[in-house]
Amino acid sequence: GYRSRAAFKLTEIDDRLHLIKKGSKIIDLGCAPGGWVQIALQREAGKVVGVDLLEVDPLPPAELIQMDFTDPACGPRLIEMLGGAPDVVLSDMAPNTVGHRKTDHLRIMGLIEVAAEFAISVLKPGGSFVAKAFQGGETAPTMKILKQNFTDVKNIKPKASRTDSAEVYLVATGFKG
Ligand code: SAM
Repeated sequence: GYRSRAAFKLTEIDDRLHLIKKGSKIIDLGCAPGGWVQIALQREAGKVVGVDLLEVDPLPPAELIQMDFTDPACGPRLIEMLGGAPDVVLSDMAPNTVGHRKTDHLRIMGLIEVAAEFAISVLKPGGSFVAKAFQGGETAPTMKILKQNFTDVKNIKPKASRTDSAEVYLVATGFKG
C-alpha cells in the first residue's frame, strides 16, 4: 500500500501529463511520509531524492534527508545527492496551519515561491514542476514567473484532493532553460 493519500493525487496528475519517465531524475520537496516517492519509484524514475522537516522511513533506492528546504544549504545538497540536474521538481510542502487564514496563506505562498525559484534555477530544459497551492490564494506572482519560464502552466485539482477543499496543484511543463 501507499504511505499517503497524497500518492493518489500524484498518480492522477502523472497519468494525465506523464511527467515521470523511465530514468527521470526527481526531487521531492516535503516528501514525508513518502507516498510520492513510492509513485516515482513505481514509475521507474532513475533517481529520486527527497527532503522533509520530518524523518521519513527509508524507501531505497530513493535518498531522503531530514532538513528544512528553506535552509539555503538544502537545494545544493539535493542536487549533489541527485548527481546532476533534475527532470522533475515536485513539491507537496505545506506549512502547519495556525488557523489564521491570511497567515496560513502567506506561509504556503512563501513555500511555493521558494520551490518555484529553486526549480527554475536547477531543472533541465524540458523539465517540469509540480507544487501544492491553495485556491483563492495569491498565486498570481508565482504563476507569472512560471509562465515566463515554462511553455505550459496549469492548475490541477485531483479527484483524490476533493476533501482538502482549497487544495490545488500548479503544474508547469516544458521548462525553457
Ligand atoms: N507528498 C507526501 C506524500 O505523498 O507522502 C505528503 C507531503 S505532506 C502533505 C507535506 C509535508 O511538507 C509535511 O511532511 C511537512 O513536514 C513538509 N514540509 C513543510 N514545510 C517544509 C520545509 N520547509 N522543508 C521541508 N519539508 C517541509
